[in-house]
Amino acid sequence: MAKYRCTVCNYVFDEEKEGKKFADLPKEWVCPVCGVPTSSFVLLAEKPVEAKKQGRTVSEVLVDQIAEWGVTYVFGVPGTSTLGVLDAIRKNSKIKYIQVRHEEVAAFMASAYGKLTGHVAACLSVSGPGATNLATGLYDASLDCSPVLVLSGMVARQFIGPGSIQEIDQHSFFEPICVFNKILMSENQTTMLATLAVKTALLDRGVSNIGIPNDVQKLPYDTPILPFEGRMPNLAFGVEESVIEKAAQAIDFAERPVVVAGFGCQGQGNKLIELATKICAPIVTTFRAKGVVDEDHPLLAGCHGGIGSTAAAELVTKADLLVVIGASFSDFTLLPQKRTVQIDINMKNIAKKYPVEVGLLGNSAVLIPKLTHKAQEKKNPAYLNEISRLKEAWVKQLSKEADASARPIRAPYIMKVLHDKVASDAVFSLDVGENCWWFGRNFQMKKTQKMVMSGLLASMGSGLPGALAAALAYPKRQVICVTGDGGFTQVMGDFVTALKYNLPIKVFLINNKRLGMIMQEQKLEGYPSNETELFDYNFADFAAHSGGVGIKVTDPSQLEAAVDKALAATKATIVDIDTDPRRFP
Ligand code: FE
Repeated sequence: MAKYRCTVCNYVFDEEKEGKKFADLPKEWVCPVCGVPTSSFVLLAEKPVEAKKQGRTVSEVLVDQIAEWGVTYVFGVPGTSTLGVLDAIRKNSKIKYIQVRHEEVAAFMASAYGKLTGHVAACLSVSGPGATNLATGLYDASLDCSPVLVLSGMVARQFIGPGSIQEIDQHSFFEPICVFNKILMSENQTTMLATLAVKTALLDRGVSNIGIPNDVQKLPYDTPILPFEGRMPNLAFGVEESVIEKAAQAIDFAERPVVVAGFGCQGQGNKLIELATKICAPIVTTFRAKGVVDEDHPLLAGCHGGIGSTAAAELVTKADLLVVIGASFSDFTLLPQKRTVQIDINMKNIAKKYPVEVGLLGNSAVLIPKLTHKAQEKKNPAYLNEISRLKEAWVKQLSKEADASARPIRAPYIMKVLHDKVASDAVFSLDVGENCWWFGRNFQMKKTQKMVMSGLLASMGSGLPGALAAALAYPKRQVICVTGDGGFTQVMGDFVTALKYNLPIKVFLINNKRLGMIMQEQKLEGYPSNETELFDYNFADFAAHSGGVGIKVTDPSQLEAAVDKALAATKATIVDIDTDPRRFP
């Protein structure tokens, strides 16, 4: 009998207590506390870790404890100062070690896993270089509020300070990256630090690090494992009715309200549509929230900001009220200062950039329905007509851009072919660069699909690790990596990780033989193209020589068949597509 955690409110579904299997719940079942669907739940533990075995170590207690709290994957490169923890992972059947070729990939994988599932995965690194190699992926998690657990090996206690091989001031190194950063100095701290690390990563939405000195890992220690239930607050909270009333009044008086949905609306597409329908407002999303509502829904006007639609831009410009939900007002989304009602679970996010008329602190899963209930029903056919006219013009524009005959192959055409062929529940991992720009702008997502990207850090090299994490988190779903020749090259050694673990990810590589986005910026700023050309490398050959499937596409007429072949492949695949580097010819 298993237990499942609601990643939105922390409610635990216990199969034994409920007398039924989670998998057998009807499709319309929602979390009884916060109302999100079963897709927002993660498996905690199949069955509790057995009480006290004889002769355990600190490492074994630590690993058993995090496994009990639903940590199912540890990503890392084995090394001298993690042997104790690594062996404890081997002994625990609930937790799986995924060996990668570079710690940066491990950290990006954990970050992507957190963003996709709302739950914690761990990365394990050795002291010194292993720890510092994690930094970029961990900063990605930190900036995008993804819960991640780091188990970092350290030199034995007597060498922390005096110095040794692979010894750095590791605690200080992790300090600016982490929401929780502690060194496991004594066996008695093991359970407390393990549970606090997972709890803090989930509640503060960031990176927790436990530094584990080499000698401590091997100390004999035994103690009972603590269950998750009863040790986490339920997060289905919201402000009192009078504040919701005030927000509803602001909406009632608005003639052109626009709902802005951010990443904090994950799993709440239906509730957003109910709100938008009742108050007669279009929905625009941030890039990271792309797909939270079906992009072909009549009220969805597209993304706002750098990759945004003309419809979203015009509707936001002309809006007299923004209802901003779970969005951080980033420089990418570029929301203007307007009368605003804002919902956010993090009180520091409310009125972070501009003053707001009403700030609603709480869980959007709870507050969206309450606001919908309190707001008056509006009828505004002229506004609805305008929304549909603007959207139609944008969709027409995208369709015009997807020119199947243009040579060299145009990125919008690649997006169109992918859109037409991938599964309706595919999971996408985007890299950073032109590939990401085109996906954000031209790919129309479905609510049943998922997407992960490096949002605020915008780090190249995040695409492949995100796809590896997605394939582990969703083994039955199609996993699509959209990447470029620049970003992929930073992490391509880990393509073999997909082969080693039989993860049949499909990599669509927009090969423009350039750092295309930077070339674009040089052009915009009046610089000549300089040092942005990349060596013309054949990634299809690389995939095939590695033991995967490699498909080279040089002409648009080959693209559809190549995508079909890739999607049918049972092994990790790279489709290397020679693509026009220009944004608009
Ligand atoms: Fe819930």
